[in-house]
Amino acid sequence: MTDALPEVRLYNSLTRSVERLRPLEPGRVSIYTCGSTVYRYAHIGNLRTYLFGDLLHRTLEYLGYEVRYVKNITDVGHMRDDTPDQDRMELAAETEGRSPSEIAQFYTDAWLTDERLLNILPADVMPRATEHVPQMLELTATLLDKGLAYEVDGTVYYDVSAFAGYGKLSGQRLEEMKPGHRVDVESDKRDPEDFALWKAAGEHRLMKWPSPWGDGFPGWHIECSAMSMHYLGDRFDVHTGGIDLKFPHHEDEIAQSEGALGHQVVSIWMHGEFLTLADAKMAKSAGNVIRVADLPSKGFEPLAFRYLALTAHYRSKLDFTERAMHAAASALRRLRRAVAEGASERTDADLSAAPLAGYRDRFVAAVSEDLGLPAALAVAHAVASDGDLTPPQRRVLLLDFDRVLGLSLDAPVGGEVELPEGAAALLARRAEAREARDFATSDALRDELAALGVEVRDTRDGQVTTVAGTRSG
Ligand code: AMP
Ligand code: ZN
Repeated sequence: MTDALPEVRLYNSLTRSVERLRPLEPGRVSIYTCGSTVYRYAHIGNLRTYLFGDLLHRTLEYLGYEVRYVKNITDVGHMRDDTPDQDRMELAAETEGRSPSEIAQFYTDAWLTDERLLNILPADVMPRATEHVPQMLELTATLLDKGLAYEVDGTVYYDVSAFAGYGKLSGQRLEEMKPGHRVDVESDKRDPEDFALWKAAGEHRLMKWPSPWGDGFPGWHIECSAMSMHYLGDRFDVHTGGIDLKFPHHEDEIAQSEGALGHQVVSIWMHGEFLTLADAKMAKSAGNVIRVADLPSKGFEPLAFRYLALTAHYRSKLDFTERAMHAAASALRRLRRAVAEGASERTDADLSAAPLAGYRDRFVAAVSEDLGLPAALAVAHAVASDGDLTPPQRRVLLLDFDRVLGLSLDAPVGGEVELPEGAAALLARRAEAREARDFATSDALRDELAALGVEVRDTRDGQVTTVAGTRSG
């Protein structure tokens, strides 16, 4: 039966072309997505990348493929140039006065809450890096055995010059990489492009593990090599992440995994483009981040952001503006209204009947051509406005499409509420106060909101407001 599954074409960053997905096992697709670094809140830019993974996951399942989806939790070892000596997890622990594992648990929960609010389906496995150190040590030892790595005072580096394929994903050529183009704190490396597989623990290091080279901790790149192969095997179908992970993270992952095994491991590498704010990349370091939890106080439900993400192809940049969010929210209401209208009649519609099957074919064609969600959304709107279809037909088609779109199209319509003037600002301040555990301020703000006729309840997912008898949130 599997050869009856629709053909799926995806853009492969490695070959720089759209190519046919040929699963290693017919009908079954294995996917690995680089997950969140859990020392701080994820922002909606990060979530755009996880939405892209979710759309791949949902599209393949919708088309009848069986998907094994792994998305990791980076709870150790993600170091960047701005905190060279210290793991960001530890830095967060220090500034927040909590242990690294408390920090990791707190931000993992926050991330998963955000994913749930955006209807991102759970992955089959969400491995934590700290629980896979033995696999990382084993891989590091293999790379040393193969002469692809060397040790200096308890730190093990990958010898990039020993791996012939280095640069094939990102197009970076070793001879063109200028030495010292980034702040180089690891002065004991043979080559500035070499990277740490394992790092010796400094004196004050909290998160460390014993190893054949002394106490230390893993590098970020080795985590994903070790976890992806542990759960998906020596070869798997698709690996996804944001565009900035292409280099060095994924380039280094290829060097590690292929270096250790001597053959290609990932068939298709996929990268999602950035979400921008006023045309600048949304990033914590740039101070321009918005969280999913911030959306309700701006007057938007989280799924309006999911809708916005569907309006741009995953390989295009997407700019977040209030205007675009209002347009997304209103288009989402339009689809929900069409679904609600179809519920009032008691007749059933058959998806395989003539006009319905035609729409379904168009939808399938759109999503199977490199996840063409903007085109798929256009099909949904064509259905919603097709007066030749009966309301139950429109409803049944839209709910079928919603298995990919994930927009909760059967949610009640009309819940959108205008907040009284000033209420949004008070809600935002209250959310901040709650985050800072400043409950006195939070209670005072609740009273101010009540005076405006806005009642606030606190739920696991944040503040829910009731305005003059209606509900939003
Ligand atoms: P991090 O937790 O920093 O490793 O980032 C998690 C994911 O979000 C990675 O796949 C990044 O490539 C991605 N990412 C970071 N910033 C953005 C952005 N502004 N838009 C889309 N994806 C992003
Ligand atoms: Zn990764």
